[in-house]
Amino acid sequence: MTSEFVSVVDIVGSIRAGKTTASDVLEQHLARIDKRETEIHAFNHVMAESARANAASIDADLKSGKERGPLAGVPIALKDNMCTRGVPTTCSSKILEGWKPPYDATVVTRLQQAGAVVVGKTNLDEFAMGSSTENSAFGPTRNPLDTSRVPGGSSGGSAAAVAAGFAAASLGSDTGGSIRQPAALCGVVGVKPTYGMVSRQGLVAFASSLDQIGPFTHTVADAALLMEVIGGHDPLDSTSLDQPVPSLTAVLGRGVKGMRIGRLADMPDGCEPEVLARLDAAFAALKAAGATIVDIALPSLSYCLTAYYLVAPAEASSNLARYDGVRYGLRVESADLISMYGATRAAGFGAEVKRRIMLGTYALSAGYYDAYYGKALKVRRLIANDFAAAYQSCDVILTPTSPTVAFPIGEKTSDPLTMYLCDIFTIPSNLAGHAAMSVPFGTGAHSMPVGVQILAPALGEPTMFRVAAELERAS
Ligand code: GLN
Repeated sequence: MTSEFVSVVDIVGSIRAGKTTASDVLEQHLARIDKRETEIHAFNHVMAESARANAASIDADLKSGKERGPLAGVPIALKDNMCTRGVPTTCSSKILEGWKPPYDATVVTRLQQAGAVVVGKTNLDEFAMGSSTENSAFGPTRNPLDTSRVPGGSSGGSAAAVAAGFAAASLGSDTGGSIRQPAALCGVVGVKPTYGMVSRQGLVAFASSLDQIGPFTHTVADAALLMEVIGGHDPLDSTSLDQPVPSLTAVLGRGVKGMRIGRLADMPDGCEPEVLARLDAAFAALKAAGATIVDIALPSLSYCLTAYYLVAPAEASSNLARYDGVRYGLRVESADLISMYGATRAAGFGAEVKRRIMLGTYALSAGYYDAYYGKALKVRRLIANDFAAAYQSCDVILTPTSPTVAFPIGEKTSDPLTMYLCDIFTIPSNLAGHAAMSVPFGTGAHSMPVGVQILAPALGEPTMFRVAAELERAS
């Protein structure tokens, strides 16, 4: 448990046992929102009214003996890039102003079927592009542990909502680190599942070959439970894996005896010494629990950031072409159709989104396609090969999640390149499509939380969660 707040597992247990009700649990969370939301700004939209109605209906059903699912009565927040029927979905962008999706994302449907109570839509970097939530068109989210600092990003609102006790758990999306990095900076657990394990249907696309949805929670057991609810095949997502989620809650107690844990022989520059000290402590804890530590190399690691900033913007430039003032949200009227497109996009997108669209359009343009986009795809293959070689000698790899703890608001906004460096450890698993998660493991500079990242091969979630559970016990 990372804080004074009650875990998902305990909430479910207490409601089942009749010790509390879904309505009481919800009111406790809404009271915390009332108290601190103005200061933190985790939400774009709080859904108090519908949440109260849902909680009341769950209580009524449970009272009459009706089964309401494994998350009955658990308050959950959703990143505001997941479609919610009839409820604004903004991606923290002005361009989607006034748009209400006509359907729910698959993950939203699955949460509701499991009895979860959605409390609101959380703030993010516009279209999930950023590492601090400062690129939101609606203003930044603040880190609940120190409000002069960022919560990380792009799912900063979802991480902050859990860290502040506004929701017992939340969902984020991770294209290059947007679940794991804010989880690390806010001191909570964050999971980026294997590509294809969680449906992307109804997730507003940033870079479709990298995007995955995953949970933020206080505990590893809560994350395992959320994964079992939201994961599994969805015929509405063509990249969905045609298989069920492996059982995760059942393996948490199995320990790490005999497991081989990979350690990067060459650590990239730029990590805070306190972050590296916590990583060393994590290796020591796993060793004490019976694992062996093996040195591994990922020679292509240093090219991953560059490759990501070609692949992700290239896909984004294509995905974001649909926001032209015709079908969704904002329209700036103009003399003719072409100038209406231009005026709408100029007014609707923020600076970082425009930068990515330009980078991506350039990387895909005739004459440059092979040199930039084509080469980036080759790096993608190389890092996959590096991982395959590394996993010959180890079961998982441990790295820092972020090279630094949460930084002050405004510190990196004038220099996009230093902001991009936040993702050096998280990007490789998106490029490879592998599983990864961040677990809080003590504090570093300024007493801010440090997250340790566990990397596992595709479908390596059971092993990854066993290691996470061991780290949680040790911390
Ligand atoms: N920070 C990275 C970016 O700006 C990753 C974002 C994400 O995972 N959505 O692209």
